[in-house]
Amino acid sequence: MSHDFDVLVIGSGAAGLSLALSLPSNVRVAVVCKGELKEGSTWYAQGGIAAVLDNTDSIESHVEDTLKAGAGLCHRDAVEFTVKNSAEAIRWLIQLGVDFTRDQNAQDYHLTREGGHSHRRIIHSADATGKAVHRSLTDAALAAQNLHLFTHHLAVDLIREASPGWKSYRCTGAYVFDRKKDKTELFKAKVVVLATGGASKVYLYTSNPDGASGDGIAMAWRAGCRVANMEFNQFHPTCLYHPKAKSFLITEALRGEGAHLKLPDGTRFMSNFHELGELAPRDVVARAIDHEMKRLGSDCVYLDISHKPRDFIEQHFPTVMKRCAQFGIDIASEAIPVVPAAHYTCGGVVVNHQGQTDLAGLYAIGETSFTGLHGANRMASNSLLECIVYAHSAAKAIEAQLPTLPESSAGAEWDESRVTNSDEDVVISHNWEELRSFMWDYVGIVRTRKRLERATHRIKLLQKEIQEYYANYKISNDYIELRNLAMVAELIIRSAMKRRESRGLHYSLDYPETSPIARDTVLVPENYAAQDVIISVTE
Ligand SMILES: Cc1cc2nc3c(=O)[nH]c(=O)nc-3n(C[C@H](O)[C@H](O)[C@H](O)COP(=O)(O)OP(=O)(O)OC[C@H]3O[C@@H](n4cnc5c(N)ncnc54)[C@H](O)[C@@H]3O)c2cc1C
Repeated sequence: MSHDFDVLVIGSGAAGLSLALSLPSNVRVAVVCKGELKEGSTWYAQGGIAAVLDNTDSIESHVEDTLKAGAGLCHRDAVEFTVKNSAEAIRWLIQLGVDFTRDQNAQDYHLTREGGHSHRRIIHSADATGKAVHRSLTDAALAAQNLHLFTHHLAVDLIREASPGWKSYRCTGAYVFDRKKDKTELFKAKVVVLATGGASKVYLYTSNPDGASGDGIAMAWRAGCRVANMEFNQFHPTCLYHPKAKSFLITEALRGEGAHLKLPDGTRFMSNFHELGELAPRDVVARAIDHEMKRLGSDCVYLDISHKPRDFIEQHFPTVMKRCAQFGIDIASEAIPVVPAAHYTCGGVVVNHQGQTDLAGLYAIGETSFTGLHGANRMASNSLLECIVYAHSAAKAIEAQLPTLPESSAGAEWDESRVTNSDEDVVISHNWEELRSFMWDYVGIVRTRKRLERATHRIKLLQKEIQEYYANYKISNDYIELRNLAMVAELIIRSAMKRRESRGLHYSLDYPETSPIARDTVLVPENYAAQDVIISVTE
């Protein structure tokens, strides 16, 4: 069975839905997503969205803070582009109906502050901003006649074609696995947009939901696109540490509002690591916690906001309070046990300001892309902003391009005539666990050359096994994710091996110094899609 659309959007998070909703209503758009519409990181975002919204703040200040957090590796043009468009992005969300929290006299929106920001500039919806944003996006998407939403549909691979009339290769659609029908279908489209989120599931401990398996990055790489800066994985310093709590993040806004990090004996320690104390950038806080946990052999440290009035905590952090209460922790009277966990993928598919990748007809936006905004370390709350700003600029570029694009070609249906059903699903679950454990142990917060070499050895063996499986058995949801995770793990390890310095989120005991020259780590696939380099990066 095949489908034919003008635009195929893979992903229904902030990036994918914002783009779909920004296209004109006469454009036929398919949005596919792995599970329900809300099953991406967007739904879980707590803190808020950074934007210049206050007279006392300025574009220059937001730009400078971002550049500083990015440790010399942000692309200034991408930062300026994003920040200049920040107020417009928020206005669009407000028009869409997002219910952002008002300040005390209800005159204006309440702006909070997070690590690395020198101003209060985080607009939020209490401590559940992602839910508020996603609800409004979903309502609008369900009402839009030109959007066709395919839930429980998992994109497997992009289709790349060459034609004598075209200057280079084009992306003309994707093969998509219908999880309910257990069948792979052909989706043809003039333009394909990857909005598949990040790859933090590659690590054993993560704040991300299950689907964050880097599918878009792996698919783009296989289709011949460059990826950049994959070694910069942000570890959120504070995830709830409890045997029964699955990936629950304790928002950075707690530290913004004065929470203290403490050792098990109650001593504060962040002032030993940074002059901003608890408000130091995330990488510094995560490394400090990792250091203290290893030094003391403790399972966690503690985040304490119990010195603030109960009313204040209830009003500002209802979600955190409720979730912790489910595990018997009253955050208004006791400290919260926390550990660091993989949180955000700073690198991704190389794109320009319109989200265009190296492959004609293929765009990438949101966490799956590499725009140059985050550099070596993402500043808190810049990521949802990036999703909206690039969704809008990509939608404009696609709208302008669509009338000039060729009709979809016939396209070949998915062929599974030579594969059988697997009776060895245990191989998949075992490989999942192995992969995520060695990535945590060898390619985590602190790295060494030897650990990276070990990881290289492991990933080669795993890749071989996974390829053999692919050639012989019918695909399944878990298998597709495992194949992509292994691909992304390889890209992370290769990038980390290439970086012979410590910078931002990449910390190596063998190369503790920061090189005076900042360069991106750009990996070029063997089947590179662009004949001329159309998107420049600093190599
Ligand atoms: C707990 C948590 C808190 C956060 N808090 C903040 C915050 O306060 N502020 C901030 O700016 N950022 C925050 N972030 C980061 C931010 O939420 C994400 O970077 C952002 O939401 C990513 O949006 P996205 O649209 O790119 O991807 P996602 O929202 O992750 O959506 C990905 C979509 O792609 C789909 N998908 C993936 N692979 C496939 C495939 N193969 N086929 C079909 N569909 C696929 C998924 O089903 C999903 O619909 C937080 C992240 C987490 C996890």
